[in-house]
Amino acid sequence: MTSCPICEEAESKLYYRYPRFNLMKCSGCEVIYRESLESVQHDQLIRDIYDENWVAMRDRYAVNTLREHASFNTMLLDMFVQKKGKLLEIGSGTGEFLWLAREAGWEVTGVEPSAVACEYANHRYGLALHNEIWHESIFEQGESFDAIVFWHVLEHIPNPKSFLKQVKRLLKPEGRVLFSLPNLHSLTNAILGTASPILVEEDHLCHYAKEHIEQLMSLNGYDIISLFSREEPSRLERDLQLNPAVQGYLTNMRETEKIKMMIGLQAGWHGHEIFGIVGHRHE
Ligand SMILES: [Zn+2]
Repeated sequence: MTSCPICEEAESKLYYRYPRFNLMKCSGCEVIYRESLESVQHDQLIRDIYDENWVAMRDRYAVNTLREHASFNTMLLDMFVQKKGKLLEIGSGTGEFLWLAREAGWEVTGVEPSAVACEYANHRYGLALHNEIWHESIFEQGESFDAIVFWHVLEHIPNPKSFLKQVKRLLKPEGRVLFSLPNLHSLTNAILGTASPILVEEDHLCHYAKEHIEQLMSLNGYDIISLFSREEPSRLERDLQLNPAVQGYLTNMRETEKIKMMIGLQAGWHGHEIFGIVGHRHE
């Protein structure tokens, strides 16, 4: 029986029964997590999902990734990390962000479990990624980074506390950790409920809201520097199109109304993603 990956409460209730797995809701902190987390064959899941087809899909969306995500994430680095030095990305995927960060002057290192994705990143962007499932012994003892990032990785990690402890050991005293993940309280999840593609995804092991991230960081000795939710304009349009109740309305909706709605979602913590910037706790 798995206890909660955040608050360690043993009691949980069934949240939803999918054909291949069950999601549970912690009776303590209400985080949603995959049943029997400790026995999930994480390596196998990753090998099965992140294959040629996935890389081909990433290739089709590469321009969008660069415009909407990689550039935004690189800007965050510039905003929150004073010293441009050594950067580690955990889960580099097909390499768009790491390439852009290198262009921006960072000395980059990336770890990526998918062999096909590593080959692509090498061929397309000239990146030599470590092709491994994340574990801290990839690095020599004493190795440390000015910035460590993981975009849409935390939801795939079966033991987030142990992961965050390892990350902390690799972070320089004044270093920063930057990350993003799907928001449990997003509009997408509100519209689609248990049919949301975020919840249906077999490889998404934990589903977090703002308060869960705050608790996780606090338990692991991090200070939160910034935490916010983000909704992109294209995401909002897709979300609205999914909702039959507003489909007709959407065609007549003014651009100003859409943007006002987007800003409202972000302000109310219902954006699609959560972003965090954290550092070592200073007592
Ligand atoms: Zn809990």
